[in-house]
Amino acid sequence: MPELPEVETVRRGLAPVLEGRVITHVQLNRPNLRFPFAPDFAARIEGQRIEKLSRRAKFLQADLTSGERLFMHLGMSGRFILGGASLGEFTHAHDANPKHHHVIFMTEDDNTVTYNDPRRFGFMELVGFGEPYRLDDLGPEPLSNHFSAPDLRARLKGKKSPIKIALLDQKIVAGLGNIYVCEALFRAGISPARGAGRLTVAETETLVRHIKEVLVEAIAAGGSSLRDHRQADGALGYFQKTFAVYGREGETCVTCDAPILRKVQGGRSTFYCRACQR
Ligand SMILES: [Zn+2]
Repeated sequence: MPELPEVETVRRGLAPVLEGRVITHVQLNRPNLRFPFAPDFAARIEGQRIEKLSRRAKFLQADLTSGERLFMHLGMSGRFILGGASLGEFTHAHDANPKHHHVIFMTEDDNTVTYNDPRRFGFMELVGFGEPYRLDDLGPEPLSNHFSAPDLRARLKGKKSPIKIALLDQKIVAGLGNIYVCEALFRAGISPARGAGRLTVAETETLVRHIKEVLVEAIAAGGSSLRDHRQADGALGYFQKTFAVYGREGETCVTCDAPILRKVQGGRSTFYCRACQR
């Protein structure tokens, strides 16, 4: 499932093709993804120029000259294919089954951008600038200056839930998912079971620093995988990276040789080292 760094990688791959371009044609191959498309979805995009392609949490947002914003969410398995090259979870464009090509955008310079999503948990919605949207209640972007230790400490104050659960709460910080929360807590040496409101000032500072670091590294790795892969065979994709704890239950901790443990918190797997995280 794409998390914030993967969505940012996709944005960086799409921006050179979409930003500043008029969308000349939108082909919808089905009436819905996770949610139905607006009945006039294609007509509201055709003829519009994409002025800017940005990201908020795990949403891509394309600002149209009409004053509307196209929000796109990749869900569990969504990806974009540029011409013949794939921007998404899979390595090669030819992995993409055309029966899952749900939306095709054509640009004024005859590029095609295809949205492929086998599980269809992704969605696309058009909203006027300034109109309320589901992103309005989200907490700060973790890579922005608004996400700081004093800010996080204030948001966690009095919270009795485990820190792992609190960091997945999108109202506390936007766009963090299971993988990078596990990795950041490991790097910060903080047990996922600690009460969120009980972190010290120093621990909160360490945690914020590691959250930002783990995301920045993942975005950098995504960027280099885009470049390498494009050079190798013309396709674009991001790769499952290797993690210190995530997905490593029973393997040896990279720091202390204890086995990595897994437990379920809030219905999600948490991976951690009992010796390194307190
Ligand atoms: Zn350890």
